[in-house]
Amino acid sequence: MNKPAEFNPQAKLETVPVWINGKALAPAGRHGEVFNPATGQVTKKVVFSDAKLVDAAVRAAAAAFPAWRDTPVLRRARVMQKFLQLLQAEQKALARIASEEHGKTLDDAMGSVQRGIEVVEFACGIPHLLKGEYSENVGTQVDTHTLRQPVGVCAGITPFNFPVMVPLWMFPLAIACGNTFILKPSEKVPSASVRMAELFKQAGLPDGVLNVIHGDKAAVDALLLHEGVKAISFVGSTPIARYIYETAAKAGKRVQALGGAKNHAVVLPDADLEFAADALIGAAYGSAGERCMAISAVVAVGAAGDPLVKLLENKAKQIKLGVDMGPLVTRQHRDKVASYLDIGVKEGARLVVDARKQQTPQEGFYLGTSLFDHVTPGMEIYKNEIFGPILIVLRASTIDEAISIINKNPYANGTAIFTESGGAARRFQSEVQVGMVGINVPIPVPVAYYSFGGWKSSLFGDLHVHGTEAVKFYTRTKVVTTRWPHQDTPAPGFDMPTLG
Ligand code: NAD
Repeated sequence: MNKPAEFNPQAKLETVPVWINGKALAPAGRHGEVFNPATGQVTKKVVFSDAKLVDAAVRAAAAAFPAWRDTPVLRRARVMQKFLQLLQAEQKALARIASEEHGKTLDDAMGSVQRGIEVVEFACGIPHLLKGEYSENVGTQVDTHTLRQPVGVCAGITPFNFPVMVPLWMFPLAIACGNTFILKPSEKVPSASVRMAELFKQAGLPDGVLNVIHGDKAAVDALLLHEGVKAISFVGSTPIARYIYETAAKAGKRVQALGGAKNHAVVLPDADLEFAADALIGAAYGSAGERCMAISAVVAVGAAGDPLVKLLENKAKQIKLGVDMGPLVTRQHRDKVASYLDIGVKEGARLVVDARKQQTPQEGFYLGTSLFDHVTPGMEIYKNEIFGPILIVLRASTIDEAISIINKNPYANGTAIFTESGGAARRFQSEVQVGMVGINVPIPVPVAYYSFGGWKSSLFGDLHVHGTEAVKFYTRTKVVTTRWPHQDTPAPGFDMPTLG
């Protein structure tokens, strides 16, 4: 965790630059502030890109595209392998940057950087992933094959909560497929993306293939509307995901926009409750609840309810602020999360653990753990994604009622069930309308060679990130049909050929 002593108010603030055409640039103009959430202090400034700067990034990416697209795929893979080595060597340094700007503990940051690195490992296998199909004699002396070609200049817009991992979900695979890329990381956590771009250049990536811009809505809108950008990957909150999807799709771009979540864990009475409670505590309060796969709602079924809530209460109270759990990302976000404590009490939920009664560091954006019991689906604390260390418990009489609660919720990113019954787990995985399911696993964390994404209001678009779905997203299929006529070749007919 960052120590307040690291901040020196006399020091001139460093500026986080944009990275365009292989160079760091810090032009005058609008800037944002970067905080260390553990101290509450501003530590850096970050360049906010305007439409002109975004245009410069798109031009650099467009200019680099033809040569990169035509670079043999094995050579692209070798640059990726070198990038992988550099990322591995820098894992701790990248985790430290993520921890300093986001607030998560260093161990937690290390884990998430590792998950991102695994996507680069997957991208090293790109020669195999881009292989096409071939059919001989689809008609008389006619063969057909497919090509997977890159789409062109792609852009990625990422959230604050995984400063390294979520960008790595996007640009390595897009670039391995032969595209060029513009990354717009969250303006709250901008530094790690620039460092990764430097490392990629060091690995041999030609200038212009990866560009990083920073900023807010102005920079995002310039990307969404730029006709040079052919595909947009987005990860963030649901209202912005919906906006990105609608705006970019209307502008004729390919879009995948991953949104927010309210992830439920169902606990059946036959579950090992001690095991379930340990799993839920990590899933609810790890990274201070700022994970899209955090479990934020427990549905306790029947007799599981009372003993489970007791276990959760005891364990939640033992979490040490500043050691096990870091601060929230900004003061504004911390205050918004804390405001749900009054809201929940007013709505009639039972506040079993109250963050306001816990010792909290004076500096920084800390908030302790809270636990609500007897929450019902009509309450605001259930309907909203709180994105902080508040866990709520709903009660259900049967597994059918639990599944019905989950299926009525508009979010559908992840869910989990805790049970000893294979039959109940199988039914749950089949009937629950959610994109990622854990069975006695609270957070089905991203596995690089599978794809990651939710359903309903947690994903706008058709294809998920990383895994083979990402290869589909970042490429277009072309079908080529070939005939080489010679003396025995039948003359082409006038009518529609039947190919039989
Ligand atoms: P956010 O939606 O506020 O911001 C995400 C990105 O969009 C940032 O780069 C930001 O600069 C940009 N942005 C913000 N407002 C914008 C606007 N009005 N117009 C255009 N662009 C805008 O999200 P956040 O607060 O950074 O991240 C937390 C959210 O991300 C949570 O809802 C969380 O569930 C979600 N998330 C989802 C996944 C997933 O896989 N589904 C993963 C991580 C985070």
